[in-house]
Amino acid sequence: MAKTTLGAGAITLGVAITFSGCVASTSAQGDAPIVGNSQESAAAPKQPDIIVDKPPVESDFPIVKPIDCTLGQDCFVLLYPDRDPTSAAKDFNCGQLTYDGHKGTDFAIAGWTSDTDVPVLASAPGTVQAVRDGVRDYRIESENEFATVKGIECGNGVLMDHGNGWTTQYCHLEKGSVSVSQGDSVEAGQQIGFVGLSGKTTFPHVHLTIRYQGDVVDPFVGTGSKSGCNVGERSPLWIEPDVEYVSSGLVRAGFSDGAVDMPELWLDGQRGDRFPHNGPALVFWSHVYGVQQGDTEILQLTDPNGRQEVNVNQPIQSSKRVYLSYGGKTTRNGPLVKGTWTGRYRLVRNGETIVDVTKTSVVE
Ligand SMILES: [Zn+2]
Repeated sequence: MAKTTLGAGAITLGVAITFSGCVASTSAQGDAPIVGNSQESAAAPKQPDIIVDKPPVESDFPIVKPIDCTLGQDCFVLLYPDRDPTSAAKDFNCGQLTYDGHKGTDFAIAGWTSDTDVPVLASAPGTVQAVRDGVRDYRIESENEFATVKGIECGNGVLMDHGNGWTTQYCHLEKGSVSVSQGDSVEAGQQIGFVGLSGKTTFPHVHLTIRYQGDVVDPFVGTGSKSGCNVGERSPLWIEPDVEYVSSGLVRAGFSDGAVDMPELWLDGQRGDRFPHNGPALVFWSHVYGVQQGDTEILQLTDPNGRQEVNVNQPIQSSKRVYLSYGGKTTRNGPLVKGTWTGRYRLVRNGETIVDVTKTSVVE
């Protein structure tokens, strides 16, 4: 918890880091731990997992993204397959957006409630091999809760056979939303359910695992490339050109009336557009992914008269997959100025602005 005191009437700047993760295997294989800082100390040897890069296969397997959303606008890829055969973890870009043993690609949304109906789509034409539904939607809060999803890590999911040795698996769908049955034929892009929070997951997303003859294939790399993360020439399976690697980006930014908690943000909470002038505080927050040590963040909150109540400019101390920053003004020394307040957050790397978001909120 980094703290920067901002003077009388200001709220301290908060920086919160949380665990996020997804384990999506329905097999009896050992499960990888949920993502987090603690994994760096996990020295236990592990079985080699994924990243079986075979010679190019006879059949192409073009796929579409498994979610109905626009990347960079209302969804983003948070975690990629782990290509590191050791207990460390690397995505195909040699980045940190994965964790040890992660076998799929996680297409995430900023927040989820049972009213959030974002369709999950079949990535290719095929036949439904197996489905599971009936698992509750619940955000796993700590490792102590892993046991509650033992054997059902994928949550509500769908397994599809596409012929020629290719299969796809979709995980963490909303309870009661799976709309296909075993034996059904599906088209590419056909809706098969909604994004949910079932199984072993700490953020709302659909996890997609691609397999060829039983081996996991990284859809950003394809087959026939080198193992590890310096893969050389890639042959991505994605048809859509916008499904590409993004090292960092905005999850969401907004306003709250007090200190902000990342788990609550994933559950669509702590957000508002209008606040009373005599409430406890006005806080501007920014939830981002892929911050890297050495980045600079700038968080500013300006009142309706143009007075800057928060102006923080500080380096990111360590790389994080997900990261939350906030700052605000309390009403300890008097009510908030009525009118439109503006919050702006920027993340800068090597002189390049990676995230730049401005939001407004009305105090009345
Ligand atoms: Zn996943």
